[in-house]
Amino acid sequence: MIRTPVLIAGAGPSGLAVAIELGRAGIPCCLVEPRTTVTTDRPRAKTTSARTMELLRRWGLADQVRAAAPLPVSYSQDVVFCSRVTGHEITRFSHAFGMYDGRRDELAECGQQIPQPVVEAVLREAVRELPSVTFLTGQRLLSAKDGTGGVRAELSDDVVEAGYLIGCDGAAGLTRDAIGARYEGSSGALPNLNITFTAPGLTEDLLCARAIHYWVLGADVGGIVGPMDLDGTWWAIAQGVREGDPVALVRALLGRDLDVEVRATDPWSARMMLADSYRGERIFLVGDAAHLNPPWGGHGYNTSVGDAVNLGWKLAAVLQGWGGPALLDSYEPERRPVAEQTIAAASAQESRLARAFARADLDTDPAARAEAAKALRAKEGEFHSLGLVLGYHYAASPLVTDDGSPVPEHDLLRYHGSGRPGMRLPHRWLPDGSSLYDHLGPGFTLLGNGNSAPLEREAARLGIPFTVLPTGGESVLVRPDQHIAWRGTTPDPAVLRRAAGHFA
Ligand SMILES: Cc1cc2nc3c(=O)[nH]c(=O)nc-3n(C[C@H](O)[C@H](O)[C@H](O)COP(=O)(O)OP(=O)(O)OC[C@H]3O[C@@H](n4cnc5c(N)ncnc54)[C@H](O)[C@@H]3O)c2cc1C
Repeated sequence: MIRTPVLIAGAGPSGLAVAIELGRAGIPCCLVEPRTTVTTDRPRAKTTSARTMELLRRWGLADQVRAAAPLPVSYSQDVVFCSRVTGHEITRFSHAFGMYDGRRDELAECGQQIPQPVVEAVLREAVRELPSVTFLTGQRLLSAKDGTGGVRAELSDDVVEAGYLIGCDGAAGLTRDAIGARYEGSSGALPNLNITFTAPGLTEDLLCARAIHYWVLGADVGGIVGPMDLDGTWWAIAQGVREGDPVALVRALLGRDLDVEVRATDPWSARMMLADSYRGERIFLVGDAAHLNPPWGGHGYNTSVGDAVNLGWKLAAVLQGWGGPALLDSYEPERRPVAEQTIAAASAQESRLARAFARADLDTDPAARAEAAKALRAKEGEFHSLGLVLGYHYAASPLVTDDGSPVPEHDLLRYHGSGRPGMRLPHRWLPDGSSLYDHLGPGFTLLGNGNSAPLEREAARLGIPFTVLPTGGESVLVRPDQHIAWRGTTPDPAVLRRAAGHFA
């Protein structure tokens, strides 16, 4: 029998992120995962968003993730549309997925292309270094019984009594059923086939351009191809294809009869699903267990990490005794709308897959390429989505004190920094070259010039970790997840109590 304050089911990106968030706060927890190792043959997510990179930086892991990435940002930041990978470029989207080879004022970190298993390997290592986390691989959750006082769970080899169960067990997991929740939504009309391959003859001089993703608009087969590393391993998504000879499909996408060795294939269909509830009594859903969206735009895993950080700091606060009862109730109202918005944005791209722009004359007719290039501007939201990735907010959250100012219109493409309560604290680089975010404390942080004494006293009374950062300007109260809880001139202790969940 294992007794633990928190059982985490599943060590994909969500479960690993929850374990890191809790482990950094010293909360004892047990992470259970059937996979003993991670393999790179089925890379799934390739895009780590700028926001996820910022959250990795918050854990001190951004540099490790970049060092592990087989493709440096400097290699390319562009998505290229082409007739074939070795054919003609049609158009390109530069600085796709928030990638910049250098600093940007509005970002503590820019985006990174990196296969999901490589990120998972870095996170697994980080988890193993956290003394309060017990990481059990080769075991799965078999059943879970939710209750007001805790959760009783059956694993393959043990029984667990836990204060809380965090369901990070993905789309096929069982925690959704355990709380009586169900996915609502629909599936994409077309099947897709992922192919991981090597093609030693696909040398740089044959490529139509240098890019991180090549969207191939072939009349016979269309899809996406991208380098996994600089050593000749590639991934492809053949769109609208359930099966078929993967070598022939790859050759068609490349536009050359090169030697191709297929390492793995994986058929899948896009799904747009949102769980109707994110929690039971003591069981919470995080990541794919709660929501699924098509991979277009690369949001699924990034949204999952956002969920994990949101729930993680709140659960740690409750277990450390300084988080009030309303804190955990705020998880679903804060995160479910973010998933809803992300699903809508990614689903909008389902009607704009390669076949929607395919033409037989793209290799031969420059005018056809120019026409296609014009039509392809409709896909901008898939590649330029900093507004979605950084601009989501919790303005309607019960934890956030409304200052009466209008909530900025949510431009999904472009990020417009705003200091309105609920928004991510606008980032800036400080004169010494450090990031403003690096100076935020582990709990709440009060920025500005105001009188901090009333909040400091209240924080001490409630045991809330509290940092004062005299930055000048108006006072801004920042949460552990870098979102703004309150701003104004005279800090009232009530705003801190509210932000920490101390209200009925
Ligand atoms: C082709 C493709 C491309 C994608 N591209 C992107 C992208 O570019 N960017 C992006 O952000 N997202 C992308 N995604 C989505 C991304 O892969 C998922 O959103 C992400 O893996 C979700 O993480 P998770 O931890 O919630 O779930 P998962 O990664 O599914 O992890 C769930 C974990 O739970 C474990 N598990 C299952 N059952 C049990 C059980 N009973 N007990 C214990 N453990 C269990 C599993 O072994 C697994 O490790 C893509 C997905 C696909 C299919």
